[in-house]
Amino acid sequence: MSTQTKINLLNLDRPSMEQFFLSIGEKPFRAKQVMQWIHQRGVTDFDQMTDLAKSLRARLHDQAVVTLPEVSLDQKSKDGTRKWLLHMDGVENAVECVLIPEDKRMTLCISSQVGCTLNCSFCSTGKQGFNRNLTTAEIVGQLFLAHHALVKDGYENGITNVVMMGMGEPLLNFDAVMSALNIMCDDFSYCLSKRRVTISTAGVVPAMMKLSEFTDVSLAVSLHAPNDELRDQLVPLNTKYPIKQLLDACKAYVEEHNRRRITFEYVMLKGINDSLEHAQQLVKILKHIPSKLNLIPFNPYPHALYECSSGNAIHRFREYVVNHGIVTVTRKTRGEDIDAACGQLVGKFKDKSRRSQKHQLSIESITGHTNVSN
Ligand code: SAH
Repeated sequence: MSTQTKINLLNLDRPSMEQFFLSIGEKPFRAKQVMQWIHQRGVTDFDQMTDLAKSLRARLHDQAVVTLPEVSLDQKSKDGTRKWLLHMDGVENAVECVLIPEDKRMTLCISSQVGCTLNCSFCSTGKQGFNRNLTTAEIVGQLFLAHHALVKDGYENGITNVVMMGMGEPLLNFDAVMSALNIMCDDFSYCLSKRRVTISTAGVVPAMMKLSEFTDVSLAVSLHAPNDELRDQLVPLNTKYPIKQLLDACKAYVEEHNRRRITFEYVMLKGINDSLEHAQQLVKILKHIPSKLNLIPFNPYPHALYECSSGNAIHRFREYVVNHGIVTVTRKTRGEDIDAACGQLVGKFKDKSRRSQKHQLSIESITGHTNVSN
């Protein structure tokens, strides 16, 4: 069998892996053994899987592979943040993932798509356009690489938390993301508890309802504005699923899953969404939802249309919402020196949506220059 027609075992969650072993006339429990070898021990060579019979190893060689993304850049920030640029298929498509170390936590920020279709007006990933969805193997591959890199460096617990807050909209790549979540939380692979895995969405309402049926991972919602008029401009998806619908979906998720709090992300944009009036509106709409608010200082990038709110404005906004009963954290900006902060992930790929071209043209019309890199 050629490598291309062989099955990549990184794509398989446990039920699919069991199915695979049944299909080659083996017992389903082999799935647990092989998942442990791959995900827990970081072994990708079937010959090293010593508790499998030689004949089975030979069949695996024949029918399966374990193909990981290729690391093409591995950068470390002054503050310990680490960013990998990973090539997914030869030189064509690369995405970024970011490790954020805190005291006892090692959080990995994972990408779900090559680029993004949503085009939020303040996000640099959006400006680059979109190429394709990542496969389950490419999503889990990010965790595999980061986890085993940490273990090799002596951090025996490896990755402790995952946030799907890298490039792309995870809920628009639903099936691949669900299988990836299954693998992340499986006792025979990374054993992450569902509380430690967060999906962040710009608000794809029907997919949020579906998510609720599948799993109870932690949910973060990129709100960024307290009224539809402003949110339509910042998150164009809002014209399809406006705030009322979005918050109803959040309430339903919370009710379904033991009133687990939703994290609302709110990027602080100078003079755009950071006034006291905005804070008042925000308190009003979040009052009836068990929520946690994450204020994200805007991270700039070349030719961004926005600036970050002042420290004072963020402080004032925070005081107001906290005094009105909303648990609020101002997110610390990490990894700025290696462009690894929220909204700065860009990867490398060919845009199929032509959005990057339009963005380039609009920059040229403003600056009068060509060849401006994104
Ligand atoms: N599509 C998903 C996943 C992306 S998560 C979502 O929208 O939730 C990335 C988070 O960083 C989102 O909350 C996003 O809105 C925010 N973000 C994007 N660009 C940013 C920037 N330049 N500065 C700060 N935060 C940004």
